[in-house]
Amino acid sequence: MARTASCPKCDAEIGDTYEGADWSVGISAGYYCDACDLGVAEHEVGIDYPDDHTPISFATEPGESRGTEMRKLSGRAGHPGWEEFCRIAKSWGYD
Ligand SMILES: [Zn+2]
Repeated sequence: MARTASCPKCDAEIGDTYEGADWSVGISAGYYCDACDLGVAEHEVGIDYPDDHTPISFATEPGESRGTEMRKLSGRAGHPGWEEFCRIAKSWGYD
């Protein structure tokens, strides 16, 4: 399934970096810009969803970002946030 998304910072195409949410470790679905070392939550980019995909609606206050976890954590070794990611993952029984 082709997705398109662009980095809000440098406007690079990051649609192919999509990773699904893993709520067990508190990570929301989103994209990652290598150039900016920036995690971009799904709701932060303009996405045209396929007709069969209804975005889950979360109650968020204006100004509140669901992407906070994505910016603090990284599921990629060597990136900032990786150690924190591992720590949280281990606390949930993952290695
Ligand atoms: Zn970028």
